[in-house]
Order: sequence, then structure tokens, then C-alpha cells
Amino acid sequence: MRCRRCDSKAVINMRQHKLSLCAEHFIAWFQDHVARTIERHHMFSKDDRLLLAVSGGKDSLVLWDILIHLGYNTDGLYINLGINEEISYSDQSAEKCFRYAEKNHLFLHQVNIPQKYGLSIPDAAKKSYRSKNRTCALCGLTKRHVFNEIATKYQYDVLLTGHNLDDEASVLFGNTVNWLGKYLARQSPVLEASSSGFTKKAKPLCRAYERETTAYAIIKGISYFEQECPFAAGATTLSNKVLLNDIEAETPGFKQRFYLSFLKAKEEGLFDPSLSDRNTDFQPCSRCGQPTSNPEVCNFCRTWENILVSRDS
Ligand code: SF4
Ligand SMILES: [Zn+2]
Ligand SMILES: [Zn+2]
Repeated sequence: MRCRRCDSKAVINMRQHKLSLCAEHFIAWFQDHVARTIERHHMFSKDDRLLLAVSGGKDSLVLWDILIHLGYNTDGLYINLGINEEISYSDQSAEKCFRYAEKNHLFLHQVNIPQKYGLSIPDAAKKSYRSKNRTCALCGLTKRHVFNEIATKYQYDVLLTGHNLDDEASVLFGNTVNWLGKYLARQSPVLEASSSGFTKKAKPLCRAYERETTAYAIIKGISYFEQECPFAAGATTLSNKVLLNDIEAETPGFKQRFYLSFLKAKEEGLFDPSLSDRNTDFQPCSRCGQPTSNPEVCNFCRTWENILVSRDS
């Protein structure tokens, strides 16, 4: 297998793009691929201050590497969830983020949930919800709150996440199977800032296969935490990924077509944008000041208040 650009030995064959490349040309191609995604979806410019949510996994660290290479002004945000039960997931992923930031002289915000709120996510979920898989519901609620809090407090223009094409196709599949119109209307590479206090959000890896981000991390020697969060086991998005990988193996390019056709259909007006929950009326939460569609107290504050009452009773 030869590199399409220079005819030396290829290190990756991307059947979905009908393209095989050597290490040097793959890195250049992938950086350019992400740069084109940023431009294509009008995500941000070199004048914007960007805040990237990093988890210690490959996708967010690869994205940070590419953004710095492309000359974007990007700080990181690591949220320590206190998930250290079966494996020391949070401690080890924190270590990867700190190391990467230190090595590359980058600024990393850190928010430690057990220190800030008094309980780790798994312990808080035990007080809040009965079943184990609801840990992810509390985790998602908490992460969304902290992301928006830090982005607003430090006046970042855009909040970025490392979701890749496999993530997006898997979520799209789940939303389509269940015909969740509100979520389909909302799923997008970019969510514009709203007047009600949400920071603009973007996913610059949304057109990148997970296999490509892995190859980038390995070739560039980026040290990342390889294990999944223990609570991810059994999640529907993971089983959707397995299913989509099987189809992709039979039909190269399937995931890309599925996701990009969805974006095209949205551009052509398949979904009424008013279905998106961003069009709901929001007002500031009386506790934390973040936007909420609840009458007075946001879901985050109400949930954590109940958890702490239950812990202390
Ligand atoms: S798998 Fe669940 S608990 Fe683990 S990081 Fe993701 S949302 Fe949080
Ligand atoms: Zn080459
Ligand atoms: Zn609140």
C-alpha cells in the first residue's frame, strides 16, 4: 500500500475517502480536514478565545494539538468527576491532560467536582437516582453546567468538544430510531450563542472518523488515557457504535454519508428549527444565574440541593 501523495509506504488506508497516506502526509491531510470543517461550518476565527473541554482521551487532546498547530487561541478545561471506583479513571485522565498542557505550555482550567460540591459524581448519583446508569444523567447535567459557567465567567467566545464522526453518527442513529424531533433539530456541528446566556458551541472533529483521530494521536506521540469510563459500559451510544461499525465494514463511508446527508437535509429545511429547545424562553436561575426554562431554580441547582439534603439527613 503506497501513499497517494509521495508513493512511499502508507501507514493508513481510509477506504471511506479512497485514500492511503504515509505518516507525514496523513498528519497534513488530517489537520487540513479539520481546518476545512471549521471554515465550512463557520465555527470560529483566529480572533476568538476558545475553551476546549478535555477529558484525557484521544479526541480532545488531538483536537487541542490541531487547534494550536492551526494558530487558534485555545485554553483547556478539565472537569474531575471523581470517578475512581473500579479503575482510577478520573485521576489517570487528569494526569494526561496536565501533562499535555504542561509539555505544550498551554493553559488548563481545572474544576474538581468532589472538592467543589462535596461528593463525586458516582456518590452523588447514589443519593439522587436509584439505578446505576443514571450516573451518566447526573454527570451530563453537571458537565454542561460547569462548561457554561467557566465559558461565561472567563468570557470565552466558543466552547469546543472533541466529539468525532462516530459519536455524532451514533447519537444521530439513536435520535432517528426513536424519532426524537427536538434532539434532531438541535444536533449540529455548531450551536450559536443565544441571547439567554448560552456560549456558542462547536465540534470541529464532527467529520473525523475515530480511527483517524487514533492514528493522529499515535503518529504524533500524544499520550492519552485509553480506557473508557466504567459507566460507559452498556450505554446505548456504545451499542449503536458497534452496529454502525459493522455496517461501515460492509459499506465504507456509510457513517460519513449518514451524518453528512442529515446535515444537508437540515440545511434544506427538513426540520423546523423552532423544534429545538434553544428557542424556549429562558430566565436566570435564582441560585446560580445560568439560563433555565424552569420557573425559578435550574435543574442543576435543584438536583444538587436535593442530593446534599439527602446526604446530610
Ligand atoms: S460514561 Fe457517563 S459517567 Fe462516564 S464520563 Fe460519560 S457521562 Fe460521565
Ligand atoms: Zn506521503
Ligand atoms: Zn442554577
